[in-house]
Amino acid sequence: MKPFSNKLQSDKLSRLLDVSKQLSATLDLEALLQLIIEVGSELTDSEACSILLYDSKSNSLEFVAGPGFQKEKLKTIRVPIKGSIAGMVYQKGAPIIVKDAQNNPNLYQGVDKSIHYTTRSILAVPMTIKTKTIGILEAVNKINQNGFTPEDQTTLSILASHAAIAIHNTNLLMELKRANQELQALDRLKSDFIAIASHELRTPLGIMLGHAAYLKEILTDPDKKSQAETILQSGERLKAIIEDLGTIDTYQSGKSRIRETTINLYNLINTVIHQYQEMADKKMIYVSSDIPKDEFYILGDIDKLRVAFGNIIKNALTFTNDGGKVHITAQLNGDFIQISVIDTGIGIPKSDLNKIFERFYQVESHLTRRFGGMGLGLSIAKDMIMLHGGKIWAESVLGKGSKFSVLLPKKLEKAKPFVEEDNKSNNKP
Ligand code: ADP
Repeated sequence: MKPFSNKLQSDKLSRLLDVSKQLSATLDLEALLQLIIEVGSELTDSEACSILLYDSKSNSLEFVAGPGFQKEKLKTIRVPIKGSIAGMVYQKGAPIIVKDAQNNPNLYQGVDKSIHYTTRSILAVPMTIKTKTIGILEAVNKINQNGFTPEDQTTLSILASHAAIAIHNTNLLMELKRANQELQALDRLKSDFIAIASHELRTPLGIMLGHAAYLKEILTDPDKKSQAETILQSGERLKAIIEDLGTIDTYQSGKSRIRETTINLYNLINTVIHQYQEMADKKMIYVSSDIPKDEFYILGDIDKLRVAFGNIIKNALTFTNDGGKVHITAQLNGDFIQISVIDTGIGIPKSDLNKIFERFYQVESHLTRRFGGMGLGLSIAKDMIMLHGGKIWAESVLGKGSKFSVLLPKKLEKAKPFVEEDNKSNNKP
């Protein structure tokens, strides 16, 4: 192939460079194809350019872009792989220049007939991704000259390779968008389900719990009383799950608001430990904490942070075998306080460490599951921590234990000690 030799050719090169930049910036496939054929016919001095892409279903080439006035008609035509010049280029993966098209036995007459056109000369080049030809870029009827030149072939080939990559990328992007839309639709379905479930189950469950509590009260036979107690306990577990779902719905729908107060971290963590002390005692798990008293303060919503740390500490107890240990620490980390809950439990596989914060995610499958739960606790904890401008993550060694860490912005100045109104007045002279 001859190299570009004169000013005209170097102008073409710079035009090509220009276009390749535009191609990589365009994501609208239709506009992209149109740009390719316009520039293709401009740079090869041809009457028209068109793009044919291979369609595996019909094993033929179909026009996806052509000159404006024939565009719609062209789109209805299928060019066979055997018995067409474009088909030959597709099969061989190599360009062809045809000077006298009408006398070429391979010309597919179907196109000329359909659009009432006479093809005199053709330059067809393959559009290739890696080694795979995906279609053809074709220029027809060289203007004012004998036929297409090797320089035209080089120009069109460069354009075709840029075009192939751009089409491929656009297709990938469209596939990604489609997959994303499907995921969003699924997520909406999940959210709707959560909202309906949490609202609609609450009332009947409340009634059942009320009646079970009443039965437990009035029954005197210890066996029957214990049965009523079982109903009550299962109902309470169900209530906790529904409350979790409600929390998620509130957060997802953006209804979550923070009721800010100054929170003493030492008190907060000790309240939560106290809440789960009975569970720890039953499993003989030693729970300890190392948080400086009256030193770390957070500006936040105490109920939400109780839920967050409650879920983390409850998990530490759930996934630690009898006789194990759970330790909670807090230290400064820049403008944040880092709180860590460390257990000597079963640990979490590395591949699951990021996923456990997703809704309904559990490390074990439902079929082999030894522990209760719905896979909601950590996702709720994450939502609550994020509401406070914080961060949560986990580290773990399988079989050895896990460490869940939370970063929360520290309150800048120490809170003033709370003074009861009565005390104030007592101090008055
Ligand atoms: P669940 O309510 O099912 O415990 P979570 O969202 O709280 O759901 O936790 C998700 C999963 O992460 C759990 O099912 C468990 O497999 C794993 N996990 C959470 N905390 C721990 C921990 N401290 N040790 C081991 N595995 C844990």
